[in-house]
Amino acid sequence: MQQELKDIIAISRTLGADTNLTQGGGGNTSVKTDDGEFMYLKASGSALKNMSSRKGWRRLRIAPILATLKNSTAIKKDMVFRERQIAQLLKKACYDNTTANAQPSIEAQMHALLRQYTIHLHPVAASPYVCSRQGKVVIEKLFAREKLPPLWVPCADTGYMTARKIARLLPGYRREHNALPKILFLQKHGIVINTDTASSAIALTRRVIKTCQRHLGPLKVKPISAPTAGDVTAARKAIRQALAPNKTKIPTIKHYFDKDIARLLAQPDIAKWCKIPPLVPHEISYSGGMPLWIDEIDPQHITRKIYQSLKRTGKQPVSFLVKDIGLFVVAPAAKSRTIKDVVTAGLVIRQHLDQLGGPDPMTKRQQLFTNTVYAYSHS
Ligand SMILES: [Zn+2]
Repeated sequence: MQQELKDIIAISRTLGADTNLTQGGGGNTSVKTDDGEFMYLKASGSALKNMSSRKGWRRLRIAPILATLKNSTAIKKDMVFRERQIAQLLKKACYDNTTANAQPSIEAQMHALLRQYTIHLHPVAASPYVCSRQGKVVIEKLFAREKLPPLWVPCADTGYMTARKIARLLPGYRREHNALPKILFLQKHGIVINTDTASSAIALTRRVIKTCQRHLGPLKVKPISAPTAGDVTAARKAIRQALAPNKTKIPTIKHYFDKDIARLLAQPDIAKWCKIPPLVPHEISYSGGMPLWIDEIDPQHITRKIYQSLKRTGKQPVSFLVKDIGLFVVAPAAKSRTIKDVVTAGLVIRQHLDQLGGPDPMTKRQQLFTNTVYAYSHS
């Protein structure tokens, strides 16, 4: 096996196993070959932690990927046609003998622009900065002594359009610092770290996250104690009745209660955080937004809440955070755990937004892009 492939698998499995760094199939990694001709890149839709010698990656030629950024007039304007065109171009750039023929990550262009080892994640500790009004200013202060300070990338459609934005920002950064940035903060999205070795990429990722975490500070509340089995059953029954009053078939309702959820339920502002609209694309594509807050175990009360939420968001909620009892996820078993990870991370992120000037959620336009395009072509 080529060393670069060994490296991308090791990096992906090491970082991907930590739900504080990425949740569900989010995040992506790449390693370029020494001659700069090829790039191993995470495949779309699969989780980083599941990458292996046989699956979860593609090997692509770099030149045709960069060409899509240089000849951008050849790229379609309409967002749906554009994304389809880009997906086809990426597939054509693949040069390997993987049997699954998976789609490469839609963030291929961004990876192509950066150093040999590139890591893109959605860390819980970094997300409050990219999703708040004052996050950029605080980031500048926190990393002021960095030889290569972070590059802040204003929000753009995930994938190709974000790469185009980065491509426009890089020449100015190079002029000022005589090098490429090693740390990028993508507004309303996540972080990107890129270096020249596998070990330094992991080390820098951990250092950036530590700095972000230290400033946010620890959670000061005491977690609530675990609910009784009777309470869990009663809450599940009420949710089931509210969702399917005529006993129509609905997916499994799974209950979750862990340290994070116990702490979140102890927070006086938790109801408010559940109402904050999606902050980043993966909250839409993997979880359908934050859970519906339920403070009364009564089917009628829950029905009313579902109706209000439908009016507000246009979507049926798939997760419910019930006061004193825990998180309930209504989804097929294979998706349940991912939804739990994404909404728990989303709520932990939300509790830090006020200290950073308040939330800066996705606009309607950004949500539309995610709902129409990104939902089917994951990072
Ligand atoms: Zn991402």
